[in-house]
Amino acid sequence: MIRPAACLFDLDGLLLDTEPLHGRAWRQAAGRFGVDLDDAQLLQLRGRRRLDNAWQVIAWIEAAGLTAPTAEQLLAVQQPIARRLLPSAPAMEGAPELLARCRELAIPMALVTSSSREAVALKCAPHAWLELLEIRVHGDDPALVSGKPAPDGFQLAARRLGVEPAGCWAFEDSQAGTEAALAAGCQVHVLLPAGVGCESYPPQVRCLGSLQEVRL
Ligand SMILES: [Mg+2]
Repeated sequence: MIRPAACLFDLDGLLLDTEPLHGRAWRQAAGRFGVDLDDAQLLQLRGRRRLDNAWQVIAWIEAAGLTAPTAEQLLAVQQPIARRLLPSAPAMEGAPELLARCRELAIPMALVTSSSREAVALKCAPHAWLELLEIRVHGDDPALVSGKPAPDGFQLAARRLGVEPAGCWAFEDSQAGTEAALAAGCQVHVLLPAGVGCESYPPQVRCLGSLQEVRL
């Protein structure tokens, strides 16, 4: 069996089941400005940085003909809701076991997330198993130029691990994250969100219904 040179993991919706909580926070915040976000819009927000999402939601508010808030005003509503909800996010099925298996096989690992360092600390605090991920690229990493869907985060993580991106397995759940990992040249595994099929991804992507399906 050919083993990866390293495994690069997304956080939200991949290792931790935070996406329903992020979705609730964005929906409530947008609702405060008169727009009811649907499930397809919430899927579009997945995997991207907070500020990029704020601009997207502002564009939707403007498109509805309503008076849009500034990003600062929108985040002043969204962030307290997110901060209250996120520490209760559970592990995704099979996530702690997959990290433990990588450690057992001495496969280097890194976290590649759009979340800020502060948000990651908040979400990871109840999950000691995530401490296995020592190398981390955060959304507000000073060395990161562009967030997902740009490839920068995965390239930066591979560089920090001293491996080529082409030898890495990237694990993602979002469209933006998958685009980023493919553009970086990684071998991409997508954990499919509910209601999303594998046909929306290029053929080289390996689709997963659960992290328990990963064989190492
Ligand atoms: Mg994700």
